[in-house]
Amino acid sequence: MAQDLAAFAAERGVKYFMISYTDLFGAQRAKLVPRQAIADMQAEGAGFAGFATWLDLTPAHPDLFAIPDPASVIQLPWKPEVAWVAADLSMEGEPVAQAPRIVLKRQVEAARAAGYRVKTGVEAEFFLITPDGSAISDAADMAEKPCYDQQALLRRYDVIAEICDAMLALGWKPYQNDHEDANGQFEMNWEYDDALATADKHSFFKFMVRSIAEKHGLRATFMPKPFKGLTGNGCHCHISVWDLAGQVNAFADKAMPFGLSAAGKAFLGGIMKHASALAAITNPTVNSYKRINAPRTISGATWSPNTVTWTGNNRTHMVRVPGPGRFELRLPDGAVNPYLLQAIIIAAGLEGLATSADPGPHSDIDMYAEGHKVTGAPKLPLNLLDALREFEKDPSLQAALGTEFSAAYLKLKHGEWQSYCSHFTAWERETTLDV
Ligand code: ADP
Ligand code: MG
Ligand code: MG
Ligand code: MG
Ligand code: MG
Repeated sequence: MAQDLAAFAAERGVKYFMISYTDLFGAQRAKLVPRQAIADMQAEGAGFAGFATWLDLTPAHPDLFAIPDPASVIQLPWKPEVAWVAADLSMEGEPVAQAPRIVLKRQVEAARAAGYRVKTGVEAEFFLITPDGSAISDAADMAEKPCYDQQALLRRYDVIAEICDAMLALGWKPYQNDHEDANGQFEMNWEYDDALATADKHSFFKFMVRSIAEKHGLRATFMPKPFKGLTGNGCHCHISVWDLAGQVNAFADKAMPFGLSAAGKAFLGGIMKHASALAAITNPTVNSYKRINAPRTISGATWSPNTVTWTGNNRTHMVRVPGPGRFELRLPDGAVNPYLLQAIIIAAGLEGLATSADPGPHSDIDMYAEGHKVTGAPKLPLNLLDALREFEKDPSLQAALGTEFSAAYLKLKHGEWQSYCSHFTAWERETTLDV
C-alpha cells in the first residue's frame, strides 16, 4: 500500500494522478495532477470550488481541498500512466462533514469504537448499451429469459474479460462474471472487504466499467431501471461484522437459525427498523422507484423487493440470509452512492446492536406471488419524495449519519424532486389532453 505518492509514481511509471472525490449525488470529480506536483498535493490537497459540485456549498465558500488517501491509490489497468486516488474533503483545515467519504469514515470509526469491523461485498449490476444510451448494445441479445445466456456473454467477452483481468491484477479476487436477468445486463463479483475498501473499489469499479466499455465503443450504465419491462440494476450488499482483528465473524453462529448470531440479528434488526428511511440513500433517484415495487418483468421476476421483510435463502425479500454469518440487503440499486451505502448500513446496524433490535419474524413465502397476503410489514416507499419523508421522520438515523450531512442531503434531494416535478412528461399529455 503506497504511502508516498511521488515514490509510487517513480516505481510504477505513473505520469498523472486523478485526485478524485465523490459528491452527494454520487458523481466522481477529479483533477489530473502531474507527478511532478503530487508531493505538494498529497500534503495540501487539490483545490476545488465546492459549489460547482453537489455538496450544498455556496459560491462564496472558501476553497475545498481534496486530500488524497494514499491507501486507496490504483494505477489504471487500462491506462497505466494514470493513477486514481480517492480523496477526503477539507475546508479551512476541517473535514467537510457532509462529504460522503468522510460520512463513511465516521461510521467505520463508530463501529471500531463499539469493537466491530464491518465487512461487505457489493454486486454492482450494469447494462452495456449503445453510445447514445437508447438501446442495449447487442441486438442479438433478445432471449425472453436471458439470465446466464452463454452465447450473449461470450459476445461481450472482450469487455468483460478486460475488466476481470484488471480486477485480477489489482488483487481484488474476482470469482465470477455472468449475463444477468435483463437483455444487455451483466454482473461481475469480487471478494468482500472492509466497508471503506469496498466503497473505494465500488467507486473505482464504476469508473473502470464505464471507461473500458467506452474503449470498446460501448456505454455502460448502472441506472436502476434503464429499460421498461426489463429487470433493473440492483446493487445488493452482503454484510458481516467481525472482531477488530478481522478474524472472528460476530455474525456467525451455526447453532442459531440461518447461522446468524444474536449480534447478527440485532444488526439486522437495525436495518429492518430503519428500512423505509434507508431507501432515501439506497434508492436515491427518481428512477430508483421504477425498480423496486415494479410490475413483473418479461423474464418473469423483478428480483427486487417491495416490502420490508426478511428471509432465509429466498430472493424475493428485502433481506436474504444466504448462509451462516452474513446477510444480503437487496434494496440498493445501481444509482446508490458507494460511500453513503456503506455508511447508512453501518449507522442503522450499530443502532440495532446498541438496542438489541429485533428484526421480527422471518417470512418464507414467494413475495412476488403472495406478497399481497403480508400484513404488518411496511411497503417500501413508492417514490423518492416518500423516501425523503421517511428519512425526515427518522431523527435517530439522521443524527447517527451526522446532522450536517442529513440536512445537506435532504435539501439537495428535495431540490432534485422539485426539478423532476416541474418537468412536463409525455404521459401527462397522453392521459390529460382530452380530460
Ligand atoms: P448472490 O448473487 O448470490 O447474491 P454473489 O456471489 O453475486 O451473490 O455476491 C456475493 C457477495 O457477497 C460477494 O461480493 C462476496 O464476496 C460477498 N460475501 C461473501 N461472504 C461474505 C461475508 N461473510 N461478508 C460480507 N460479504 C460477503
Ligand atoms: Mg480555475
Ligand atoms: Mg450476484
Ligand atoms: Mg444479480
Ligand atoms: Mg445478490
